[in-house]
Amino acid sequence: MQKEIILKLKPAEAFDNSAIRGYLAKSLGSSKNSITGFYKLKQSIDARSRQQVWINLTLKTFINEPFHQREIERISFKNVTHSNKKIIIVGAGPAGLFAALSFLEHGIQPIILERGKDVRSRRRDLATLNKDGIINPESNYCFGEGGAGTYSDGKLYTRSSKRGDINRILNLFVQFGAEEKILYEAHPHIGTNKLPHIITAMREIIIDCGGKFLFEKKVTDFIIENDELKGVKTFDGNSFFADAVILATGHSARDIFELLHQKNILIEAKPFALGVRVEHPQTLIDSIQYHCAFRDENLPPSSYSLVEQVNERGVFSFCMCPGGIIAPAATQPNELVVNGWSPSKRNNPFANSGMVVTVELKDAVEYFKKEKLKTKNTEIDSPLTLMNFQKIIEQKSFNAGGGKFVAPTQRMVDFSNNKFSSSLPECSYLPGIISSDLKNVLPSFIHKSLQEGFKIFGKKMNGYFSNDALVVATESRTSSPVRIPRNAITLEHPQIKNLYPCGEGAGYAGGIVSAAMDGERVANIITQKIKTL
Ligand SMILES: Cc1cc2nc3c(=O)[nH]c(=O)nc-3n(C[C@H](O)[C@H](O)[C@H](O)COP(=O)(O)OP(=O)(O)OC[C@H]3O[C@@H](n4cnc5c(N)ncnc54)[C@H](O)[C@@H]3O)c2cc1C
Repeated sequence: MQKEIILKLKPAEAFDNSAIRGYLAKSLGSSKNSITGFYKLKQSIDARSRQQVWINLTLKTFINEPFHQREIERISFKNVTHSNKKIIIVGAGPAGLFAALSFLEHGIQPIILERGKDVRSRRRDLATLNKDGIINPESNYCFGEGGAGTYSDGKLYTRSSKRGDINRILNLFVQFGAEEKILYEAHPHIGTNKLPHIITAMREIIIDCGGKFLFEKKVTDFIIENDELKGVKTFDGNSFFADAVILATGHSARDIFELLHQKNILIEAKPFALGVRVEHPQTLIDSIQYHCAFRDENLPPSSYSLVEQVNERGVFSFCMCPGGIIAPAATQPNELVVNGWSPSKRNNPFANSGMVVTVELKDAVEYFKKEKLKTKNTEIDSPLTLMNFQKIIEQKSFNAGGGKFVAPTQRMVDFSNNKFSSSLPECSYLPGIISSDLKNVLPSFIHKSLQEGFKIFGKKMNGYFSNDALVVATESRTSSPVRIPRNAITLEHPQIKNLYPCGEGAGYAGGIVSAAMDGERVANIITQKIKTL
């Protein structure tokens, strides 16, 4: 017999198989020996009680019958070397990679054009950025093999469960080397140290099956005849032709947005969010969330998720990284962007999280007017106004830091009380931080919303509003400030045939899993279309 059994255990018990077996036997009213084996279907932490943190487990239990390990669904890929159908995928982020894998399943040849380098060469560019404050605009935390997903935190949860099959995406990650626990944890996480191996394994399969994977191939133009996309041109003068083009260039490919606009291809401004990254000592967050002086060794470093309406504007935490590092995630030499990641063990002494405020098109237009920064593409009717707003704040942040990606920073209570921080504690951000009045960097509607937001969050999480916490500017690449429209059913651009906007940059995803699901979705639609032709 097999049964799904739910247990609520103390942390030490939840990771001790012998203890679990005992509780299973008790719950079944049978002996320990009758249980031939079990595996976890779900695991979550419940830290609501001040007395005890609980681990909730759902266990597939085998009773008096042979035990079978969890079956990992393995997807098989076809050899596409001789496929007469070819699809260009611009961008090798999660959207592009999962689209490519889906084409391999269906026997269609993907041709991936990626502006950045492979994961290994990319790592060297990241080291130079972190150590020397020098950025390679084509190879950084956003650009290169695996896109923004490779050196990301690798949290694999999404709220967009209706947009695709999350379990299929997680299974594929396991097939390419991720740990099985991502299949049952409530908040699955891979970690920056493990992602590059997984992305490399995906590339190897794509190439082994006859797909093409070309690095340092920045797409700089579209080949369009009678409103039909025939192919693309790359920066080195080469042209590539295919049956369709998936544009999965991510939220940081401003040159692509500019190119589309310049060619009168329809794009739209899209509201996004901008703010700062906040860093606390991890021990402080643990003590708040787990209600104890020291974290139980069986519990992971704790996280939080905060959201509040302040002056009718959303203020919320974003991409929280327990035991993490703040990373320089800009793509240009004169712009400062911060984001966060953590290794699989999440064993750094800091907890960081984006804390951002929603930005509408009218806010950006107001800002430009107030700052007397009226230039091209800063008007209410320009699709690039929000992108230019994002860029201006990033440049202000870079200048406030004094260059080399040193980040302007303030202590949290000082930030909220308009006080300059005369000293700053240690911070995980490697290029360095400098004390700065962030009122001079952030637009006032964002600054004020954050000032208020921090105080409110301090009431929700006693201890969060602290001068031991740092506020680091600027977290600005939360999602795309531009949408590339597409037909809701055919997923094709409404004006240009064979152009398929995809992933986060086009405005259809926000994170690794949703971008991967969107890549699969677009690939499936193109496959159906090709097969019915
Ligand atoms: C530091 C960091 C931490 C993050 N942590 C998480 C996390 O924990 N969980 C999560 O879900 N999300 C996280 N994210 C966000 C996540 O990485 C993105 O949402 C996701 O990668 C978007 O996927 P995408 O394929 O749509 O675009 P991207 O990953 O941005 O990929 C786009 C690709 O297109 C390429 N490209 C751009 N322009 C061109 C061109 N002209 N020609 C050719 N190629 C081009 C780029 O080089 C890039 O490789 C993090 C991001 C960062 C930077």
